[in-house]
Amino acid sequence: MTRSDPRRRIPRTDHLLSDPEISSAAARLGDQVIRDVVREVQDSARRGELDPDHVQDAVRDALARRRVGSGRPVLNATGVVVHTNLGRAPLSPAARDAVLDASGYVDVELDLVSGTRSRRGSATRAALLRACPAAGDALMVNNGAAAMVLATTALAAGREVVISRGEMIEIGAGFRLTDLIESTGARLREVGTTNRTHLRDYVAALADGDVGCVLKVHPSNYRVSGFTAEASIADLAEATAAAGVPLVADLGSGLLVPDPMLPDEPDASSALTAGADLVIASGDKLLGGPQAGILLGDLELIARLATHPLARAVRADKLALAAMEATLTGPAPPVTEYLHADPDRLRARTESVASAIGGVDVVPHDGRVGGGGAPGVPLPGWAIRLPERAAHALRTGVPAVLPRVHDGACLVDLRCIPHADDATVAAAVRRALDSVGSGSDG
Ligand SMILES: *Cc1c(COP(=O)(O)O)cnc(C)c1O
Repeated sequence: MTRSDPRRRIPRTDHLLSDPEISSAAARLGDQVIRDVVREVQDSARRGELDPDHVQDAVRDALARRRVGSGRPVLNATGVVVHTNLGRAPLSPAARDAVLDASGYVDVELDLVSGTRSRRGSATRAALLRACPAAGDALMVNNGAAAMVLATTALAAGREVVISRGEMIEIGAGFRLTDLIESTGARLREVGTTNRTHLRDYVAALADGDVGCVLKVHPSNYRVSGFTAEASIADLAEATAAAGVPLVADLGSGLLVPDPMLPDEPDASSALTAGADLVIASGDKLLGGPQAGILLGDLELIARLATHPLARAVRADKLALAAMEATLTGPAPPVTEYLHADPDRLRARTESVASAIGGVDVVPHDGRVGGGGAPGVPLPGWAIRLPERAAHALRTGVPAVLPRVHDGACLVDLRCIPHADDATVAAAVRRALDSVGSGSDG
């Protein structure tokens, strides 16, 4: 480094840390984050990307934007409502408030009136039972997979779980339900064929097997069509009741009552009314709440699960319990709103954002339920069509916007974006187009 090297003008760490605005950010971010930011900015000045005279301001700016966590909020412009890679269901404002309230000391296991210990999560249990009166009792655990492990362990460890070959599913990221069940020490008793399973197949298994439970799985993410047959819950209920074996229905998506928009998606109330003894569902799919496994059903079965030692290992976190209660008792969560978004209103919003951007087209675009739910159901809507190369700039901008890249185009769908963020999206798209040079190939 020569005397005239501009790098000599880069402010030293101790000088930067003595700036009150920089040092006071430590209360919010912690010392380590401050030092990391200082070093990142100094490094970029050393590489010649930043004028050394601007280092101090750049550190202040970076700290003002910095969060302690590395997770970045993303505006979901894909039209996919339950987006697995974006954390599935976004929480409602009511649920976010509840999480904040529960984040300190909270009466999650305490009755403040008597001063004695109370049942953990009893308010959430009550909210589940109000939302699904067909259930005798309810239990919330860590996630759907945990609910499945708890149910099969408590009901069938060392015994058989009867399952149709047409329902042996793999969901995202190579997760096979059947591997999970076998990991509990239960044995799979496969019945029927891939496309056709009859009541008599189950009856035969019940007659000669050592059956712990019969499991009916909703194959959330695919459909078998053509020459098919399956035994319904109502068909099975009589046979399992006669054999004294619990009938467990893994519904997946977590509708508690039927949704006319999704006629093929099973719901907990209907499954229980049809005769399922126990229903398993996820909390962060169509229910629109936090990650959770929901168990609903027979009072004594739920008690068996709740008192099993494994229940402690899969118990729900106080934040999730609070968010679930608020999701069930508060205003409809975003998932419900986005799923039922009116196509005409979506079109008007999309056109207004498009005209704020200028020079872009609005095209019809189907949204999706996502999260492995209702695979065949399109959600009619609209999108702004951009050149494909705008996608990277949108994803890496601040705020990050995730568009759908399809057929050589970058599509911005407003279905899953709060109305209040429309102007933010328009500005993000304008910046993205500016940065890639908005040719007319889109
Ligand atoms: C999603 C799903 C699960 C797993 O639930 P998680 O909450 O993701 O653990 C289990 N079974 C079915 C049918 C599902 O769709």
